[in-house]
Amino acid sequence: MVRRTLIRAGLFLIAAAGVALPLSAWAGALVQVAAGVYVRPGALQDASAANDDAIANIGFIVGRDAVAVIDPGGSAGDGGRLRVAIRAVTPLPIRYLIYTHVHPDHVLGAVAFMQDHPEVVAHARFAAAWGERGAYYRQGLARVLGGDPAQAGDALPPTQAVDTTADIDLGGRVLHVLAYGAAHTDSDLTVYDDQTRTLWAGDLLFEDRVPALDGSLTGWLKVLGQLKALPAVRVVPGHGPAQLPWPVGAADEERYLATLCRDVRALLKKGGDIDSAATVAQSEKGRWKLFDAYNGRNAITAFKQLEWEDPS
Ligand SMILES: [Zn+2]
Repeated sequence: MVRRTLIRAGLFLIAAAGVALPLSAWAGALVQVAAGVYVRPGALQDASAANDDAIANIGFIVGRDAVAVIDPGGSAGDGGRLRVAIRAVTPLPIRYLIYTHVHPDHVLGAVAFMQDHPEVVAHARFAAAWGERGAYYRQGLARVLGGDPAQAGDALPPTQAVDTTADIDLGGRVLHVLAYGAAHTDSDLTVYDDQTRTLWAGDLLFEDRVPALDGSLTGWLKVLGQLKALPAVRVVPGHGPAQLPWPVGAADEERYLATLCRDVRALLKKGGDIDSAATVAQSEKGRWKLFDAYNGRNAITAFKQLEWEDPS
């Protein structure tokens, strides 16, 4: 009871200070990784009332005529603070919201951009995935934030579905949007800015925080190979620092995913069952934040996928 009261008191402080203190702290965290490319790195934590689900890397790209937001944030508050930060950088219209994938820490802040009437660009599979999971995600976050669904935010429905590629013209600056098969999720998109050779990878790339598998392990490894072939010089990961050099920035994740794949295949080969799957990839423990929270789940997901492979 005491603990709950303390949590509520903490929430009140955040809500009361929502316009002043957290915003100034938040705006200071905005990083310009290349000309006109701005990233707000997220906290390397799971969603909590204290972080308002500002846990993913989100941001925007400014062209001559317009702004594109790439992932509008993890809650109504996170999206609202991103919008204020954009307005501090440029008065240009926010014409596009691009969702890198269906996970709530990347898209629930979209509601803060409703007034901009943006084109909402997402993977062709996004709408179906959001239909299946959106309400569950919102309820889950509302519980974490203290029970108010409005605080959790919402995704705006896509107006442009991408099944292969699409070009977004910001005026003198064209962003190439690429859609993928199942990898981190089944709705992954990347954005490539060839003016600065910046690849915005969403959660196809994790650094520091252990990758979370919600799509296809072998598909993810394949897509990572495709991304490494792009002529990018830097990447914005979905979780981790604001930027990494490319393609060397892929090394940690590729090692983790390959280890997971190899260890689960070895377990299957010796007849191990799914209950022992959580013991795999222990050589990666200590290299990643939130390892214990996610590695076991990743292993079980991988086990279910790889057990149907032809072992020959
Ligand atoms: Zn994700």
